[in-house]
Order: sequence, then C-alpha cells, then structure tokens
Amino acid sequence: MKKILLLFLCLFCAKFPVFGQITDIEKTAFLRLQERLAPLHQPVKRQENDWLSQITTDPKQPFEVFCKENLIKIDASKSVIYIQPIGKFNKHQRKILKELDKYLAVFFGMKVVSFKEISDDFIPAKDRRKMVSEQLRTTYLLYDYLLPKIPKDAAAFIAFTEKDLYPQDSWAYVFGQASLSHKIGVWSMYRFGNPKTSQKVYDNCQLLAFKTATHEIGHIFGIQHCQMFHCNMNGSMNLDDLALRPTYFCPDCQSKISWRLDLQMRPQFEKLERYWHKIDNPTETEFYKSQKEKTY
Ligand SMILES: [Zn+2]
Ligand SMILES: [Zn+2]
Repeated sequence: MKKILLLFLCLFCAKFPVFGQITDIEKTAFLRLQERLAPLHQPVKRQENDWLSQITTDPKQPFEVFCKENLIKIDASKSVIYIQPIGKFNKHQRKILKELDKYLAVFFGMKVVSFKEISDDFIPAKDRRKMVSEQLRTTYLLYDYLLPKIPKDAAAFIAFTEKDLYPQDSWAYVFGQASLSHKIGVWSMYRFGNPKTSQKVYDNCQLLAFKTATHEIGHIFGIQHCQMFHCNMNGSMNLDDLALRPTYFCPDCQSKISWRLDLQMRPQFEKLERYWHKIDNPTETEFYKSQKEKTY
C-alpha cells in the first residue's frame, strides 16, 4: 500500500509543478543568513542620471514578497539554461561565450547547453534597422524566434547576439531584454568593446557579459530590479551603470535565487570562490570566501 502511495506521489510530482510556500523555519533561516551577509554589502550606489533617477515605477520586491510571487519552484538539478548565439562572432567573442557557459553553470547550479551559432539572416527587414551599425529588434527574437522553440526542460532560453539591439523604434538601444513569464531573454555584447583589441578590453567584455547574463536570468527567475543594496540586480540605463554594477547578488536577491532553485548558499559560495580563483580574479575570490565564512 505504501509503495502504491509513493508511486502515486512520484507520478503526481513529475506531472505537476512543485509549489513552495515558504515555511516559518525557512524564513527565519534566510533572514539569519541575510543578517550575517549584510556587513559584506553596501547600500545601492548612486551616480548622476543613473537608472534609479530615471525609473521611478519599478516595484520594490523584498524576499518575502518574491516568495509569494514565485510559488512554482525550479528544480535546478533537472532544468537547463539554453543559449542560442545568433550572428557572426569573432574567435575572442566565442571564447567569452564558452567561458560564460561555465560561469552560469556555477552561478545558478544548473546545466548550461549552448546551441551551435547561427546567422541572423532569418530576421526579417522590418525587425532590423540601420543606425551607426545594424540593430536587431528584441521583440522579434523573443516572441517570434525563441518562444515557439523553447525546450521542455528549459529554466531559461536565451539568445546572445553580437549586433546591437532595440526594443521599439523610439528607443536608441538596449543591452538586453527578458520575459519573466515566458522564461526567454535576449542580450547583446555589441557595446562591451571588441575583445580582440587587447587583454584589458577582453577581460572587461567578459566581465560585462557575466554581469548581463546573470542579471537577465535573474529576471527570468522572477527577480525585479533591486533597490536595497549594491547588487547585480540593480538596473542599468547605460554603460556607466553597468560598469558600476557588481557581479554578485546582494543577500536579499541571493536568498530569492537560493530559495526558488533550492540551492544551499554555502556550497554555492564555495563553488564560486573556486571558479573565480581558477580564472585568476583575486577580488571576487576573496569576496566569495568571506561570504562562505559567514554561512556557518
Ligand atoms: Zn534589468
Ligand atoms: Zn539585490
């Protein structure tokens, strides 16, 4: 009888999404962790004409509100982040894309699969325009290209382009755009500099790609722009905002990811510490080491 009940429960769980109302015990544990991590973080940083001064309508989304808004959990062990590179990347950009796969797999504790690079020829003339360089319309890539092809086990399906992007005619450009309800996103490395120019430009381009990718996937997983801390989920209106934005999530946004993806913070921080050490970035390595030490 027990076996039949267990089988029934397994079938039920496999067929339907897992809903996760946060319990009081979980809430207390997260709040305790947030308190411990907070001294390593700073309040949101401001600069002239930044995203906060221009976007006044972004709703505030504390951890508890996030948990109520995102009841369906994502099983990180069974889900995949799919990436579709679109365009003609040079070999340095390709190298960054490859590294990005590794970084995202560590950051979200999830399998990352990159599809073969494809040409952007399929994008119709009405969804591209000539400015200083050619730009591609995000809404076409999101809703006409990605949405009908989304794989069943995708937690996120992303297009990455080397050409510049625009969401609608009145906008000059966007770095990227994501749909929280459809698990899809698109972003571009066009404005990050040509990584073949020098090692310095290469490193910066890679860092900006890391920041943008984790930020947009953060949106896909339900996180709104963060207005509490200096955080990867802060908005950005321009390259200055993006340069200022850190790679890491603040205690509040980290809790959102850890809760929704069922990831323990300590092993996550440990893996990230090892990753940054491997690619020889002492600042990030030290930061994650300090975070890890706070999670005893
Ligand atoms: Zn954003
Ligand atoms: Zn945050």
